[in-house]
Amino acid sequence: MADQTFDMIVIGAGPGGYVAAIRGAQLGLKVACVEREHLGGICLNWGCIPTKALLRSAEVFHLMERAKDFGLSAEKFGYDLDAVVKRSRGVAKQLTNGIGHLFKKNKVTTIMGEAKLAGKGKVTVKTEKGTEELSAKAIVVATGARARELPGLEGDGKRVWTYKTALVPPHMPKKLLVIGSGAIGIEFASFYNTLGAETTVVEVLDRVLPVEDAEISAFAKKQFTKQGMRILEKSMVKQLDRSDDKVVAHIETGGKVEKVEFDTVISAVGIVGNVENLGLEELGVKIDRTHVVTDEYCRTGVDGLYAIGDIAGAPWLAHKASHEGVMVAELIAGKNAHPIKPGSIAGCTYCQPQVASVGLTEAKAKEEGYEVKVGRFPFIGNGKAIALGEPEGMIKTIFDAKTGELLGAHMVGAEVTELIQGYVVGKTLETTEAELMETVFPHPTLSEMMHESVLDAYGRVIHM
Ligand SMILES: Cc1cc2nc3c(=O)[nH]c(=O)nc-3n(C[C@H](O)[C@H](O)[C@H](O)COP(=O)(O)OP(=O)(O)OC[C@H]3O[C@@H](n4cnc5c(N)ncnc54)[C@H](O)[C@@H]3O)c2cc1C
Repeated sequence: MADQTFDMIVIGAGPGGYVAAIRGAQLGLKVACVEREHLGGICLNWGCIPTKALLRSAEVFHLMERAKDFGLSAEKFGYDLDAVVKRSRGVAKQLTNGIGHLFKKNKVTTIMGEAKLAGKGKVTVKTEKGTEELSAKAIVVATGARARELPGLEGDGKRVWTYKTALVPPHMPKKLLVIGSGAIGIEFASFYNTLGAETTVVEVLDRVLPVEDAEISAFAKKQFTKQGMRILEKSMVKQLDRSDDKVVAHIETGGKVEKVEFDTVISAVGIVGNVENLGLEELGVKIDRTHVVTDEYCRTGVDGLYAIGDIAGAPWLAHKASHEGVMVAELIAGKNAHPIKPGSIAGCTYCQPQVASVGLTEAKAKEEGYEVKVGRFPFIGNGKAIALGEPEGMIKTIFDAKTGELLGAHMVGAEVTELIQGYVVGKTLETTEAELMETVFPHPTLSEMMHESVLDAYGRVIHM
């Protein structure tokens, strides 16, 4: 057997783990990455990537429905759900294969099997061939998370789906209930609604997309409703009565319970960290509600043991996981590692219209004691948006009235998930309104609205 002593062992090959492994190898460390199921983790196999492939099919379908608006004719078009899903699985496969190539190129040792911590600096791995023992100075736990299953609302793979079933659906829903209106719930609601499912979304909090700025949530809700979705806020699914061909949901709103029949339910009520059977407690690692407690450098308090990505808590986003992966690899290699700035991590939802944001919402900024200046710019005032046939949307910016610091940016509309990065760079550089106003934005682009929103906050908007 090859020498099983490494500088760094990474458990889990999701966007946290595989990026940590590659960065560690780039810095000259001898790295092993252990994965029990699939390279690429949830993100590439069952999350970010396959959902975006499905949503692209829905987007093209929606555009075909609007062909006339563009002077085109598209008749007798339709969709083949199996083919849509096949494309999505193919995209996921292409990317996960890519991770295998990147590991080879960077000389990361890949070990397929279930890993468990076996004491400080020690890991045992159950593989198809038996148990392997590995050791390293540094171990990075990047085991991710899975769908939260509330009692009575558990997925059954037939009528009640978690995100995994919703990605490889056994049938096309006709009457769909989505429980939970966070990014995952709303993306599936958007996909199935666009393809013709009569869709109801139930959200326990007071608005859809509850982490977003209240104005953006309200705008998005109006668009979802226009597209035919039924949105129930401050509502709770208390019970699901399942039979072979239907599910009756007991939905409580304002103290009254309504019984509604659906043929399919998607439960999207959050995630829980994969903390079990890893040997974490035995080493004295602190766990808070299924997530490993870490400091800003992802250190667990146990010498040489780090936790990154979804298992280390919110925000549960691939880019947060990857950034933490780079940071711990640099720390382990003795480089000058930079902790992540939580206020600079953008969140994107790829529903129709798209939603993207970074930093504080207006309410949160006020709650934190800031006196704010707020700018808004609607898509209808932008030439490119009109040329694209996408006049519905808005960009909202929030500044500290005293210093001009950009506190937050919130967007809803076409392609905003691609635009938000402009503000993310600005926030990372701690930009102010003055620099953003001085910046020249190319014409005609949707990005010009990012400029106009800033100008609006300071009473200088041009195209409104
Ligand atoms: C439907 C859906 C859509 C999403 N869309 C987006 C999006 O658009 N953008 C975004 O940023 N995020 C999105 N996410 C979230 C994103 O997928 C996660 O934040 C990301 O995958 C977290 O990466 P990770 O490396 O921490 O963990 P994971 O990707 O969960 O990877 C963990 C890996 O560890 C392995 N593992 C676990 N235990 C062991 C063990 N004991 N031994 C060996 N291996 C083990 C698992 O098999 C898995 O491969 C989405 C999630 C879902 C479910």
